[in-house]
Amino acid sequence: MDIIEKKPVAHELKLLKPKEIKLKLDEYVIGQEKAKKTISVAVYNHYKRIRSLTKTNSVEYSKSNVLLLGPTGSGKTLIARTLAQILDVPFAIADATTLTEAGYVGEDVENIILRLVQAADYDISRTEMGIIYVDEIDKIRKTTSNVSITRDVSGEGVQQALLKIVEGTVANVPPKGGRKHPQQEYIKVNTENILFIVGGAFVHLDKIIAKRLGKSTIGFDTSESRVFDLHETNYLLSKVEPEDLVQFGMIPEFVGRFNSIANCNELTTEDLVEILSKPKNAVVKQYQQLFEEEGIELKFTDAALVAIAEKAKLTGTGARALRMIVETLLLDLMFEAPSDPTIKEIIIDKECIQEHAPPLIKRSA
Ligand code: ADP
Repeated sequence: MDIIEKKPVAHELKLLKPKEIKLKLDEYVIGQEKAKKTISVAVYNHYKRIRSLTKTNSVEYSKSNVLLLGPTGSGKTLIARTLAQILDVPFAIADATTLTEAGYVGEDVENIILRLVQAADYDISRTEMGIIYVDEIDKIRKTTSNVSITRDVSGEGVQQALLKIVEGTVANVPPKGGRKHPQQEYIKVNTENILFIVGGAFVHLDKIIAKRLGKSTIGFDTSESRVFDLHETNYLLSKVEPEDLVQFGMIPEFVGRFNSIANCNELTTEDLVEILSKPKNAVVKQYQQLFEEEGIELKFTDAALVAIAEKAKLTGTGARALRMIVETLLLDLMFEAPSDPTIKEIIIDKECIQEHAPPLIKRSA
């Protein structure tokens, strides 16, 4: 029995054109031009499809979802989250590695839907137009080894379970989460119009593509050819075909549900510098605002921004490291400044990052 009655679709969709979606994405997401373009088109078509479903005698488009390839911290989650904001639809994130097929220890796929229901404040019609981002999708590749007793780490079962909700089904969602049990009452959610964006690093997928294209990958892992490699990897990933993903270990039925495949490139130091200071909610802007509230002007020299970006690059976690580096850098100042009204200006130069030198502090006379 449904515990929540299904309401008619009342929510008005903001149907922005692909170019408008891309422009909005540009405000938050640096670089990744091709991915932003691909996803803008996919999302536009997705919501156009939903709208056309309410009209009679129109051609029915089949549902398409989006697969984002790209290393950690390159903006995959950010793109999905920003899209949901732009379109004003509910959004939920899941991690594929925590999921299990029914009957095993772990999280049921229905719990992902529950998160979306919660993001929509239990408004089911809104839920059914939401966006779900599933991270680390590459970690549920099919493998023949590593089968444990408690869970199917081969991943195939998880792909099957996910496939069901991705292709569209009426899911029985336990309202409080947790494992299903027979006496429970469920919220019924039709996943037909939920947009699924899945992302993963797909390490070594480039090699599979290279092999298909008949290219040699010799020298790929030597550090001297690192810059060349990055171009080569980006080039190869831009040529990805569904068969490569199958070769990687995704089941064909699953791959078949993702007609739109986009690649997020590994961010360069220049990208990281921009990410620090350009986007609407850029890390540097946020800290400047914090200090401004204490009446202090916080400045970063261009060289300081480059030094922060270079340090972040070394961590190999893309833009993820930026905030932590800035937070650590400013910790002492954030501790001292509120109790010191004489501080008027703080200037961070590259030595503060590279040599832990103290920043230049200007005080009122
Ligand atoms: P991924 O999902 O690819 O691992 P995320 O989207 O979670 O990476 O990125 C982590 C954080 O790094 C984001 O919240 C954002 O602050 C920043 N970031 C990553 N990529 C970009 C980008 N291309 N443009 C702007 N910010 C980015």
